[in-house]
Amino acid sequence: MPDDIKSSPRRLAITGMSCAGCVAMVETALRGVPGVAQASVNFAERTAQVSGDAATATLIQAVQQAGYDASELRDDDAEAERDAAEQAHYQRLVRNTIAAGTLAAPLMIAEMAGWLPALTSPAGRWFWIITGLLTLAVMIYSGGHFFTGAWRQFRHHNANMDTLIALGTGAAWSYSMLVALFPASVPTLAQHAYFEAAVMIIALINLGSALESRARGKASAAIARLLGLRPKTARIVEGDQERDVPIETLQVGALIRVRPGEKIPVDGEIVSGHSTVDESMLTGEPLPVAKQVGDSVTGGAMNKTGSFVFRAHRVGADTMLAQIIASVRQAQNSKPPIGRLADQVAAVFVPAVLIVAVLTALAWFNFGPEPRMSYMLVTALTVLIIACPCALGLATPISIMVGVGKAAEYGILIRDGEALQRVGQLTTVVLDKTGTVTTGRPTVTTVIARPGFSEDEIFGWAAGLEAGSEHPLAHAILDAARERGLALPAVEQFEAIAGHGVRGSVSGRALWVGNRRFLERQGIDVALLQVETERLAATGQTPIFVAVEGQAVGIVAVADPIKPDSVVAIHRLRELGLKVVLLTGDHAVTAQAIAAQAGIDQVHAEVLPTDKAGVIAALQAQGEVVGMVGDGINDAPALAQADVGLAMGGGTDIAIESAGMTLVRDSLHGVADAIALSRATVANIRQNLFGAFIYNTLGIPLAAGALYPMTGLLLNPMLAGAAMALSSFTVVSNANRLRGFRPAQPR
Ligand code: ADP
Ligand code: MG
Repeated sequence: MPDDIKSSPRRLAITGMSCAGCVAMVETALRGVPGVAQASVNFAERTAQVSGDAATATLIQAVQQAGYDASELRDDDAEAERDAAEQAHYQRLVRNTIAAGTLAAPLMIAEMAGWLPALTSPAGRWFWIITGLLTLAVMIYSGGHFFTGAWRQFRHHNANMDTLIALGTGAAWSYSMLVALFPASVPTLAQHAYFEAAVMIIALINLGSALESRARGKASAAIARLLGLRPKTARIVEGDQERDVPIETLQVGALIRVRPGEKIPVDGEIVSGHSTVDESMLTGEPLPVAKQVGDSVTGGAMNKTGSFVFRAHRVGADTMLAQIIASVRQAQNSKPPIGRLADQVAAVFVPAVLIVAVLTALAWFNFGPEPRMSYMLVTALTVLIIACPCALGLATPISIMVGVGKAAEYGILIRDGEALQRVGQLTTVVLDKTGTVTTGRPTVTTVIARPGFSEDEIFGWAAGLEAGSEHPLAHAILDAARERGLALPAVEQFEAIAGHGVRGSVSGRALWVGNRRFLERQGIDVALLQVETERLAATGQTPIFVAVEGQAVGIVAVADPIKPDSVVAIHRLRELGLKVVLLTGDHAVTAQAIAAQAGIDQVHAEVLPTDKAGVIAALQAQGEVVGMVGDGINDAPALAQADVGLAMGGGTDIAIESAGMTLVRDSLHGVADAIALSRATVANIRQNLFGAFIYNTLGIPLAAGALYPMTGLLLNPMLAGAAMALSSFTVVSNANRLRGFRPAQPR
């Protein structure tokens, strides 16, 4: 496969997109390239995300053909370059504003004060001609990009915001120049110059873009924060030598020393020393975590007091931090359903406005009062200037950008905008018990043996069989066996049955280790252990039965305590108005006991792994919008069935495909945070969309002169310019309010 053909999503920086209407044009161009599976443009970030096997050069060509330009954002250097370009662009906008404002402000003041000479006097004409030439110079310096942009669009048979501004200010200037040069060509009443309007509009629109660019920079601070977590070097240990190497050169397996107060460079496992580590910037977990030999550490986390050496397990793009960054970028580029209508409207907006402007001009020319020429010009100009759908196009992506970034701060990784919107609409949350409500690190509490068998015998058999299983319960039993120093018997014909247990034979004797259903399926009666079972289960312990040759001979009891913060987090979920359901394959009485401790009232217990998705579907059939929270491995079908699947990453593999969200922090608080944040983000998008729609639906008729017949009021074109500049700034600033979001914590 050639180097530049890749199927992983690519990021392109898009330049020349002046307005929301451009989004659809660039997307259409990219989607038209053979081999492109998906293309989505983020107007707030001025980037495109493309997946499929088209060559990058072809993609760039397609974008250029549509009248824009693109470059690939291949690595962080390219990203940094783009940030620098954005900064330079901002400074250019400021210079444009100052230049245009310097001419516009005195002109406007003099005009209002009546100091300017009349056009008809000979000296006045010269004054106006010179002003016209100065205006032209400013329009080229400060507004040249509108004209070149409009021209590029015109050549590609397109139109965008540049077209509107170029047409509007161009018409104002040409008309004024005509009046200055040949006053006799227009009726006396219409002999008026609009130079100051043209420069003022250009000043205001540059100012609006500058403010927006600044505010957008703040909105994308989340990625910058995550990028800033990566240390540049790591101290590797080779024999008794230590030296600092650039982080890019690190290999899996390297031994790395981390000293107090240093950032951990990559992911790995501690081989010597111990410390406490602050992972809050990655997971949102506020408390520092104690780490010792054998514990895993995550790149980007801050080492507090101790010093340790760890072995690198994941480096480069495989580290959790790199995956978090990739996931945040991808989600920031996606659109929730709520934003789709706005995109569709924005796509047809510019042509529609051009038509409205022409109709306005015609109406004033044919039915308007004298001076018709002036009215025609002013109204059409005002329509062109006020009607830019920028605010509309920014409304959704800018809030998504802030919302997704904020979520990452709380250790919530969101797959796409749809999941972000959906999670706030949930009515029921289904919680998997093991590892979700409970710690998922069960420990053996008791061993019970029927008369004629010893505890060690029962335990040895259980441990021998569980040696072949990956189940958390199996790990608990093996750990306990190791502690007791038991020798494990050799097992033949081993078999693990999901949701049931394990079986095999030891010294020719058939053994079963598992739950009640598993034994009953073999026709093994567990009634003799009934009393012990009830007693264990009532306190939330899981009885694991051991049977030999068709006879139940003992129980290994295992307790998996609920996580310390589960109770409060579940309380928060109920305060958010959700029904909370516990779903587990565990013993019904055990599950009831755990549910009671955790404050959950609905329980589905003894559910086979294959039936978990069915429980979700049944809840959905009752009209519930269901979120499923699980560890993402054996719960994949249920996570996929749910309206939103939330995978508890637990800090391991965060690239979980079946889930809409991944909770990096191993706590149910993440679920409540995600729901609260989703609601805040969607409310923010609604405010933005509402504001943008109102702005355009009121602005255009007002600009066209709808109020004139009744009240004689007309909108000043410079006011239209100011409104237009303010509208996108308002939207971006409103989205930035989300940066202060704090989920409510109950006492
Ligand atoms: P959960 O729904 O809690 O994730 P599973 O579906 O994995 O649980 O398992 C359900 C039940 O099946 C367990 O509570 C246990 O009783 C039994 N079980 C499954 N695997 C094993 C095993 N390897 N050893 C003993 N019991 C097992
Ligand atoms: Mg499970």
